[in-house]
Amino acid sequence: MSTEAALRADIVEVGRRMYARGYTASNDGNISARLGQDRLVMTPKSVCKGFMTPDMMCITDLEGRKIHGDRDPSSEMLMHLEVYRHRPDVRAVVHAHPPVATGFAVAGIPLDRAVLAEVLTTLGSVPIAEYATPSTSELPAAVRKYVKAHDGMLLANHGALTLGADLFSAYYKMETIEHFAHISLVARLLGRENLIAREEVVRLQGLRGSYGIKAPAPICADPPAAGDPVRATTDASGDATCQVVQAPEGGGQRLVPDPTRADASRELSDETEIRLTYRELSALIEDAIRSLR
Ligand SMILES: [Zn+2]
Repeated sequence: MSTEAALRADIVEVGRRMYARGYTASNDGNISARLGQDRLVMTPKSVCKGFMTPDMMCITDLEGRKIHGDRDPSSEMLMHLEVYRHRPDVRAVVHAHPPVATGFAVAGIPLDRAVLAEVLTTLGSVPIAEYATPSTSELPAAVRKYVKAHDGMLLANHGALTLGADLFSAYYKMETIEHFAHISLVARLLGRENLIAREEVVRLQGLRGSYGIKAPAPICADPPAAGDPVRATTDASGDATCQVVQAPEGGGQRLVPDPTRADASRELSDETEIRLTYRELSALIEDAIRSLR
């Protein structure tokens, strides 16, 4: 089987899995992969990803001009092109609307807390790209901010986007994000999350090399101080240069109640000592100042 035939068949399979798992409804979602140096294989617009056939795919160049195919390429082609432009290492892009992760994207809650070792080692953190009108050039602009430093992100009020060195690694990152979102949701419904300490986060990051994980950027030092070039988390154009992870300083694991939950304090007595990260403390103080105004 030629490389092109194999890629067409693999995109059909990834689309089938996404639809079977409920990551897309109707004609949602899109998938693409590099074909050689200067071409892409991409899903066409307006088809259900669960019932595609290899002959439906479009072949385009890296500017999005159609080279081959009976159908037009995905309406989110501009977002895919933006990823390939900034990430020469990426060979496949997957976009879907997995419901739990998209719930976090709608609530404006990034998946950036240090709670699962495997997620920290592979994805690092999953930020939220600002809301942008789907299928317009606004969406690539929103994605650009995070794409150099992350292999997965949420799209505010829309869905999720994952990238990989091959098609299945991009797809499996979508599975990981939805699984992570599901676990995070259950932990928050149960009322608490045990955050992994920053020292352990650093240790997990060290494992990336031994597992051959090529993360696009390191986890940010904490706390990232404004104006401190050593700890800056963005470059001059405002694009992320590292992965923001919320993890408490100090040895061992700490119990950090979610300060955003109104009933979090019910489980604590007046004498209970709690520890907050610098970021959480800053957020609490900002909230208090806002409510005084
Ligand atoms: Zn979408």
